[in-house]
Amino acid sequence: MDFLLSKEQKSIQKAAREFARGELAPIGRELDLTQTYPADIVKKARELGLIGLFVPEKFGGPGLGYLEQAIVLEEFWKVDPGISQQLCSLTFGAEEFILFGSDEQGKKFLDPIFNGEGVMGFAITEPDAGSDTLSAATMAVKDGNEWVLNGSKVMIGNGTKGTFMLIFCLTDPDNPSRSKRHSIIAVETDRPGYKAEPMHGKMGLRCSDTAAIYLTNCRVPEENLIGVRGNGFHQLMAFFDRSRAYVSAHGVGLAQGALDMAIKHIRDRKQFGKPIGSFQGVQFKIADMAVKVELARNIMYKAAWLLDNGTPDTHVTAMAKLYASRIAVEVVDEALQLHGGYGYFDDYDIERFYRAAKVLEIYEGAKEIEKMIIGRTLIGK
Ligand SMILES: Cc1cc2nc3c(=O)[nH]c(=O)nc-3n(C[C@H](O)[C@H](O)[C@H](O)COP(=O)(O)OP(=O)(O)OC[C@H]3O[C@@H](n4cnc5c(N)ncnc54)[C@H](O)[C@@H]3O)c2cc1C
Repeated sequence: MDFLLSKEQKSIQKAAREFARGELAPIGRELDLTQTYPADIVKKARELGLIGLFVPEKFGGPGLGYLEQAIVLEEFWKVDPGISQQLCSLTFGAEEFILFGSDEQGKKFLDPIFNGEGVMGFAITEPDAGSDTLSAATMAVKDGNEWVLNGSKVMIGNGTKGTFMLIFCLTDPDNPSRSKRHSIIAVETDRPGYKAEPMHGKMGLRCSDTAAIYLTNCRVPEENLIGVRGNGFHQLMAFFDRSRAYVSAHGVGLAQGALDMAIKHIRDRKQFGKPIGSFQGVQFKIADMAVKVELARNIMYKAAWLLDNGTPDTHVTAMAKLYASRIAVEVVDEALQLHGGYGYFDDYDIERFYRAAKVLEIYEGAKEIEKMIIGRTLIGK
């Protein structure tokens, strides 16, 4: 067992850290307050190869692994959750092409994300279908050699900025098996019948694009179906088994960033004639936070390592996502507590981190859903 990062992984980590400090740190707070999309940073991250690290070279990507993706995202999330969310979401759903698409589809849709202006999103959630993805009711009906899509999606990353969306939709509503009714279809966002409206007022990650999508008789060619017709639910679960490994890095990075801020603050802040960090009660808090972050990082590494070694493990990935998001919420809460009243004001970064953390327990599988997966696997075993 080797817990050390390779030379290449360390150099990727260093590049991501420097990029985060140089590009994200100076502007993160302002973009969050003004809810402004980080267009320039997206462009630079793309040019530097710091997005979608797991996407193979044959599709234009860096051709690395899920561990490299997690390492980069941890560095980003340590510095600014909102911009980092946007950078992660540029390739959100690319796994569908890697695992299930043809080479032709992968080149056509993914290459422009790395070598052009392409941005993708994965639209699963609907007003009446959140955790219960099988209730998704957006319809795709075959008409000649085209699919005609009708329905609506909510809370979708890149809904307004994306150049194409993967739509999780019903193609076979009469199949007796609920899990064989859905498919995944790529929809270019400039097609007639595609409409997206930004959803403002998010608690955190406010510079990232989140939108409602409306599909009205939106026609796409039949070859836009990714994978196998009726296999959409299985393909969706395979995606989550991968993406949740590096979404754990959102939690690990946010928690590490919050811990770093807390340490800085307690060293500087004096009360009762001493830095508050000199009090044992405060040191115990820091120790508890650090243990949580280290454990979350370890299971994140394990989940990503298993994926890169061809042994994806639903159970471990769900545990990594569940634990990293939980400790992110706990650590940022304690870190803000250590800032006292100052942490409650938006001129301290901890305020923004606190607002950002909660979504980690909701998106990409709410914490209760992760527990259901873990529980079922254990009972099944
Ligand atoms: C910022 C942001 C970005 C997002 N980006 C995307 C995106 O890009 N693409 C996309 O498709 N979606 C996206 N989402 C949506 C997100 O995936 C959903 O919010 C999430 O899946 C939960 O669905 P819901 O909000 O409908 O909650 P619900 O499913 O209504 O759940 C509400 C609560 O009930 C709990 N619950 C539900 N069923 C059970 C059960 N059987 N047992 C126990 N507890 C249960 C849930 O865990 C949750 O706590 C995003 C959301 C946010 C906030």
